[in-house]
Amino acid sequence: MDPIERLTTLFERFPGIGPRQAGRFVQFLLRSSPSVRRELVDSVQGLAHSVRQCPSCFRYHASESANCGLCANKNRDDSLLAVVASDADLFAIERSGTYNGRYFVLGGTVSLASEKMSGLRVAQLKKYVTSHKNLTEAVLAFPANPEGDATAIRIREELQEELPALKISMLGRGLSTGSELEYADADTLKNALDNRK
Ligand SMILES: [Zn+2]
Repeated sequence: MDPIERLTTLFERFPGIGPRQAGRFVQFLLRSSPSVRRELVDSVQGLAHSVRQCPSCFRYHASESANCGLCANKNRDDSLLAVVASDADLFAIERSGTYNGRYFVLGGTVSLASEKMSGLRVAQLKKYVTSHKNLTEAVLAFPANPEGDATAIRIREELQEELPALKISMLGRGLSTGSELEYADADTLKNALDNRK
């Protein structure tokens, strides 16, 4: 395949990127210096060599140790666990600077078409809540959309069955419906966390 077409096709697979944007990325790279292209290639390869998945919260990170910096941080509140759909949502909450508990990345949301939870780390989440004895509350911090709501219902059931004593809360609806956590501003997230119920 033509190298320009090949790279355009690759960029088109990125979330939210259409053919025209993919084409613009390739044109940008064609105009860029060899050092810029080299940096891109090295960064992509670096994902394979220096990034690992945290065995506790399951987010991707680049620290030297197995556990990520957040899980290794002894100053975080062990009694609180935010269950999020994705790494991006974790970063959004972290950026808001209003949350000091622990995290668990579920790895997605329930698909409304299939209502299946396949691919989600439900078993790992259950193991987390039963093996962390200081935990008292799980905050279900899923996107404010139908998939997020469906996920919250299912995860609440699973956790209640696993550990009836665990308090389960959800983000308050300071978040407008349909909004993705990763695009919410810090004040909105702070309100949603403060008003959890
Ligand atoms: Zn971690």
